[in-house]
Amino acid sequence: MQSPCVTVPRTEGEAVRQRLEAADLLDHDRQIAVEGDAIFVPVMDPGAIPDDLDVVDHATGERDTQTVPNDLVEFEASYERIGDVVVVDEDDPERARALADAIVDSDIPVETVLNRASKIEGELRVREWEVLHGDTTETVHREYGSEYLVDLAEVFFSPRLATERHRVTEQVEADEHVFDMFAGVGPFVIPAAKRGATAVGVDKNPVAIEYLRENAERNSVAESVTALAADVRETTDGYGDWADRLVMNLPHSADEFLETAMLLAGDECVLHFYDIQHEDDPFGPGTEAIEAAADAAGYEVDVETERVVRSYAPHEVNVCLDVRLRRR
Ligand code: SAM
Repeated sequence: MQSPCVTVPRTEGEAVRQRLEAADLLDHDRQIAVEGDAIFVPVMDPGAIPDDLDVVDHATGERDTQTVPNDLVEFEASYERIGDVVVVDEDDPERARALADAIVDSDIPVETVLNRASKIEGELRVREWEVLHGDTTETVHREYGSEYLVDLAEVFFSPRLATERHRVTEQVEADEHVFDMFAGVGPFVIPAAKRGATAVGVDKNPVAIEYLRENAERNSVAESVTALAADVRETTDGYGDWADRLVMNLPHSADEFLETAMLLAGDECVLHFYDIQHEDDPFGPGTEAIEAAADAAGYEVDVETERVVRSYAPHEVNVCLDVRLRRR
């Protein structure tokens, strides 16, 4: 539909939008349109538009009338959804309160609003939370056709790794032996088992392992999943030479577990090794550590993929090395 719009170069779009908003002239029922370098801001009363702005008729779409948190706060809100938990990261208590209220008043489904109260800490990689709304930190997260019950206050879980987990688990073939050395609530183990693998997930956090067992049941793969609450270094007796595929998602210290990985690996094994390194040499340290451990254990190493998963901190990246090990 054609509607009256103020048109300006894109670079001036936000300033003009704010000016029109302040003058109560924006048409909130129509969407802003962009064409080449020009932006078209729908307006209510063309006759009231200041003379220095051009008004034209332009095609605009109807605006989604769902209310989102950004409609209800005066700052650029950012948040992440994990099931019906909404996670925010606000240092200022007033902003945190305003954002939590906006989230609850918006149309997004929400049971709980959590504010990050610490970094991800310690061996078990769990974060502390400030509860801004609701009374449970447990939720069901859905990812690529699987569902995971998680308690964010008790276990590590990040929805941001969904694409990466899918990339890895899509490589799994039926009848493989997949061993996840740091399994959490099972987001590698469960899709691997769904593809027909026999999967073992180990985690030192016993609560994560309870959730992993529950999630194996929920996704109807309990029969092909073994979940062990243990330090992975203590599991090599039962699973020596066992794995066709190893997942090592403990990025800050996976290198300390490479000796264990070599004991778990079968004659030929694909290793997915996660690391966090400086952007200047993201793959070098991991490759060197894997080559040294593999050499000592009698394996040849073929690095098949070097992948930057995401940026982690300024100049630091979270990477994955897919490596094929072959016993000499
Ligand atoms: N793979 C899971 C995921 O993607 O959600 C969890 C990854 S999380 C970064 C690392 C996990 O390793 C945590 O759940 C932590 O409890 C576990 N962990 C840390 N040290 C361990 C150890 N020595 N043995 C087994 N698990 C360990």
